[in-house]
Amino acid sequence: MNEKIVLSTPTMHGDEMKFVQEAFDKNWIAPLGFNCDNFEKETSEYLTEGKEECHALSMVSGTSALHLAIKLAGVKRGDIVLCSDMTFAATVNPVSYEGGVQVFVDEEEDTWNMDPKALEKAFIKYPQAKVVVLAHLYGTPAKMDEILDICNKHGAILIEDAAEALSATYKDRKCGLFGKYNAISFNGNKIITSSGGGMLLTDSKQARDKAFFWATQAREQAPWYQHQEIGYNYRMSNVVAGIGRGQLLHIEEHRDKKEKIYRRYEQGLKDLPVKMNPYLDYTKPNFWLSCLTINKGVDKNPMDLMKFLADANIETRPIWKPMHMQPVFSNNDFISVKEKSVGEDIFARGLCLPSDIKMTDEQQDFVIEQIKKFFN
Ligand SMILES: *Cc1c(COP(=O)(O)O)cnc(C)c1O
Repeated sequence: MNEKIVLSTPTMHGDEMKFVQEAFDKNWIAPLGFNCDNFEKETSEYLTEGKEECHALSMVSGTSALHLAIKLAGVKRGDIVLCSDMTFAATVNPVSYEGGVQVFVDEEEDTWNMDPKALEKAFIKYPQAKVVVLAHLYGTPAKMDEILDICNKHGAILIEDAAEALSATYKDRKCGLFGKYNAISFNGNKIITSSGGGMLLTDSKQARDKAFFWATQAREQAPWYQHQEIGYNYRMSNVVAGIGRGQLLHIEEHRDKKEKIYRRYEQGLKDLPVKMNPYLDYTKPNFWLSCLTINKGVDKNPMDLMKFLADANIETRPIWKPMHMQPVFSNNDFISVKEKSVGEDIFARGLCLPSDIKMTDEQQDFVIEQIKKFFN
């Protein structure tokens, strides 16, 4: 049997160890510290290239960053929040942490992200909505100009979930800079990883300071432990931040390798009745995961393809099952401009392919061969 071909795993380079070693040498094994400070600075410099203001807060996870983004946006019990529908549950769960109510907005075929037309329709039904949470799926940027126009028109705050989209650009500006409050993730399978962790990003220093306050147990300035608000223990560890700093040095290299994988699938699968996950030509995805959809009307099922590839020791993953199809959100509203939900359709026809940057050309050729075998 061939060695297992995996979906996406961490790729370390050695630089990570240097920063971790420094934390050990200085015995700075705690949350906060020089690696956290530098990781924040280096990440915001990487994102903005010094062209705009971006204050970063390193945190235990992308989910915790999204949670504080929801708090900063002022979501209170019963508030409607318009959310991406086809995404990982972590995009939308934090709305519930604050007692908000998610209304899910359908995807579009061009990017697999939130459809601006469906968002406009959602605002007509819910004019009181003041917050939008948008995820860039699989590292493909959404239609930011259109989405931001609609948010501005309705006086709504945009929260960007760029957990999968670090290094992706929309019209030469990086994902994670478009919303008022944004989150990125360094979870184990993301384009770069700190083993686990995330960051909150905002152009407001005041907002960053408030999030820091919440993330460090909401301690008021007093000689004793004084609390006026509920706090959280959400800070990243200085050791973990060291891994992240080492990884950040290699992010462009990771992106280029991910793109190469996508291009090889595109080329290798071009004669089959499938399409790769689409993107707009004025955007640069990070190609975090290469995905395919089986063409409409073709009598083949992605779950059968998944099983077929698993038998050849190849790991794949279903497309994120849309949130409006999840039992936990069965009482939440869903807005679409199509007769059949685009998200449901992509979910029914799609599959995520092995996109690990350590995959060799030979291994990828084997995957392509197996997919061809499935169709013939
Ligand atoms: C991974 C991911 C998250 C959560 O990030 P964690 O760091 O794992 O908490 C949120 N949203 C999306 C779209 C993700 O893929």
